[in-house]
Amino acid sequence: MDTADLTQTDDAGAGYAATYFTATMAAGPRCAPLQFDLDVDVCVVGAGLAGLTAAREIARRGRSVAVLEGGRIAGGASGRNIGLVMPGFAQDPRRIVARAGLERARVLWRLSEAGVDYIRDTIAEAGLADAALSGGGFLSVSKIDDAQTVERTAHFLRTTFGVDCEAWPTERVRAHLKSSHYFQAIHFRDAFHIHPLNYALGLARLAEEAGVRIFENTPALAMDPVGVRKRIQTPHARVRAGAVVLAGGVHLGGLMPALSQTLVPATRYVVATAPLGAQVADAIDFAGGIGDGVFADSHYRLAGDRLIWSGGLTVREANARRVGRRLRRDIGRIFPQLGKVEIESAWAGTFGYAVHRMPQVGEMVPGVWIASGFGQHGLNTTAMAGNILARAIVEGSRTWLAFEPFELIWAGGSAGRLVARLQNLLLGGQERMAARLSRRRERVKSRYDMEDAQRAQRLWAQIATEPSTGEPLPAGVGAASAPAAAEAGAPPMQPGGTAA
Ligand SMILES: Cc1cc2nc3c(=O)[nH]c(=O)nc-3n(C[C@H](O)[C@H](O)[C@H](O)COP(=O)(O)OP(=O)(O)OC[C@H]3O[C@@H](n4cnc5c(N)ncnc54)[C@H](O)[C@@H]3O)c2cc1C
Repeated sequence: MDTADLTQTDDAGAGYAATYFTATMAAGPRCAPLQFDLDVDVCVVGAGLAGLTAAREIARRGRSVAVLEGGRIAGGASGRNIGLVMPGFAQDPRRIVARAGLERARVLWRLSEAGVDYIRDTIAEAGLADAALSGGGFLSVSKIDDAQTVERTAHFLRTTFGVDCEAWPTERVRAHLKSSHYFQAIHFRDAFHIHPLNYALGLARLAEEAGVRIFENTPALAMDPVGVRKRIQTPHARVRAGAVVLAGGVHLGGLMPALSQTLVPATRYVVATAPLGAQVADAIDFAGGIGDGVFADSHYRLAGDRLIWSGGLTVREANARRVGRRLRRDIGRIFPQLGKVEIESAWAGTFGYAVHRMPQVGEMVPGVWIASGFGQHGLNTTAMAGNILARAIVEGSRTWLAFEPFELIWAGGSAGRLVARLQNLLLGGQERMAARLSRRRERVKSRYDMEDAQRAQRLWAQIATEPSTGEPLPAGVGAASAPAAAEAGAPPMQPGGTAA
């Protein structure tokens, strides 16, 4: 790294990883660990976005709620992601239709959109200015030159789910993202991005205002799920609750090992550059979020004139600074005009995904609920799940049954992790190869275009200097070649066929 990581200078950031988001965090609740036994209607394990949303919505419906958080509020993926909010799930929508059927897939998609609306409305209604909501949409860019697939995908999303999206041709993409690596794209107009940590801290404040009691540095160590009152053991005290929401994600670990084994952990890496100044516009002239492929991809956006760039995916957490150096090379490869960017902070975050890449939402045994497995598409889906579970627990809503086709499946323990790694390598490799082929095709094509243009220019020069014989031009020269000649710098044709 060129500069030291951003460091926390005040106590508010203690216990958080040093990231761009903690360096710019708003004041949030500072909650003491649980030191006394407690009886509540609902105990939520985990103060990430899923747990916080569920807790707030349950309390708003009049129930007493305690949240147990092993570390700090949103200290995990919820406070470390890059804040892109858009509808949908980690799974490809076509596969959702294939597995769940068209009608159910439409219901699921609407639920995922409701998650987007919840975030937008909460920020607006509660005046969470620190969450820094910015519009501009989301541009899903193809590194493979395949206009037909991009248009077909956009058409599918519009006609199947009513998504407000539009296919962009390569020229339009490159007018905004000045990179020869990029071809066509789909623009999702309603997407936006936020400061994820400040949103989570705002949500925690709203939860407390609704009556939720949050206990930080309080891991749930063991649970007795049998009986009407569930018992949860923490280091210094015990909680008894009528219902439990397990929202610990991939970190739930020892509390329910069988449940943890239904998730494959994946660690993703992020770098924040130093301010890039006006030169950033030479590379990126787009206010929204950007993603450039499903595997081996990069997701990024601007925060002022800094670039927040995420990439890399490992099954075991690697050194974030080392991976950060690779991300800097990725930035340089995609946008060489930025030169060698200076990285101010680099960090990692871990999320979990199920074998079917859909969230785990529902009741496992009477009174024990789960909200987990959101993968890399967790902002809208955690909001969605928190609301679904609150309605289920308090009002008996059965909306969660929409997720029935995506049951808990053992992810295969360490063998499953190996399979996931191989899959990522294989699929990432295929995509990278297709992207390389697209760029090579484009280079070859532009060489031919250049040769055509040069041939035309030579002919043009020959014709212009030779005395006119009154004979017709050779076939193929003239109308077709003139624009190419003009592009190559030949004088433009004037009406009447004379050079200016
Ligand atoms: C680098 C990165 C970039 C991402 N970018 C995006 C993006 O742009 N858009 C998007 O939609 N999604 C993104 N995601 C995914 C998204 O961040 C996650 O899916 C989402 O935050 C998961 O939220 P969660 O509440 O389920 O889990 P977490 O945020 O992991 O929260 C779980 C909490 O539970 C606590 N916990 C676990 N076990 C226990 C226990 N036994 N007792 C007490 N507490 C416990 C943990 O300490 C943790 O705080 C990204 C993720 C990463 C890592």
